[in-house]
Amino acid sequence: MAVAANVSEIDHGRDILRDSRGVIVLTGAGLSVDSGLMTFRGSGGHWKKHRPEDLATPEAFHRDPRLVWEWYEERRRAAAKSRPNDAHRAIAEFALRRDDVVIATQNVDGLHTLAAREAVMGDKYSKQPRVSFTDGGDANRALPLELHGTFYNVRCTSCGLCREHRDLIDVSSKETLPHCDDCGSLMRPDVVWFGEPLGVVIERAFDCASRSDACLIVGTSAVVQPAANVAMVTHQAGGVIIEVNPNETLLTPMCEVSLRDTAAMAVPPLLTPDVDG
Ligand code: NAD
Ligand code: ZN
Repeated sequence: MAVAANVSEIDHGRDILRDSRGVIVLTGAGLSVDSGLMTFRGSGGHWKKHRPEDLATPEAFHRDPRLVWEWYEERRRAAAKSRPNDAHRAIAEFALRRDDVVIATQNVDGLHTLAAREAVMGDKYSKQPRVSFTDGGDANRALPLELHGTFYNVRCTSCGLCREHRDLIDVSSKETLPHCDDCGSLMRPDVVWFGEPLGVVIERAFDCASRSDACLIVGTSAVVQPAANVAMVTHQAGGVIIEVNPNETLLTPMCEVSLRDTAAMAVPPLLTPDVDG
């Protein structure tokens, strides 16, 4: 049963993060729940309706690309209508204010990137940046390492050509799915499926994790490997883990602080600077 995080735990977490040299923030599907997007596991998760092996494997795509695209297109459309929530914003602003924060996400929904852009350029309503760069800071440092790719990119199943694809996809037949501009073959979502390797991006995340005093994990069940190991790398290098999740996870026994609350409730007070900071 989830209970709200208490103030002293939040203060403890804030102190740790303020005094840490190097923070890696590892996020999962739970972060985007407060933006209206579903997780895979738990009540309301995608896997209640679909078995992962039917949808998120190369074999499934080979067997029925239209079905797989239909599922991704439903998620792409939901994500396109969603907005970064207060936790995405707080994480982006935290990474922009400091030069020793790296964001690594398992999410494929693009909301970290949107939050980073809006923190620097303002959102479509206010047009007012929330973080200024008079100190010469680098706006790119709030861009995440996307460990599992993003479903706004597509990749050719033959020649490997990769490109952005934000337009709606007609999933009514195999012929109307995206095809490669170069060789004409079918394009797939540029995401990592079960059984596929993660590539160099996970090595970068492990390297950052090993040099970070703290790993903040938000909204991940920490069961999907190797991404979940990012937190363990920090822990094994002598750093601490801080967790934000309404429920216990496999990493809870290793955590210095566990905030049992939703991301949008717990992350902003954890990452917002002191008045004099
Ligand atoms: P998961 O579904 O395994 O776990 C989600 C976690 O979020 C759970 O531990 C749950 O207790 C927690 N949670 C639920 N509501 C929350 C809230 N409001 N605030 C904070 N935490 C909350 O997801 P995972 O660990 O990211 O791993 C599974 C895989 O799911 C990844 O490979 C990822 O690519 C994929 N995925 C991505 C998205 C997305 O991009 N938005 C959505 C669904 C799944
Ligand atoms: Zn091609």
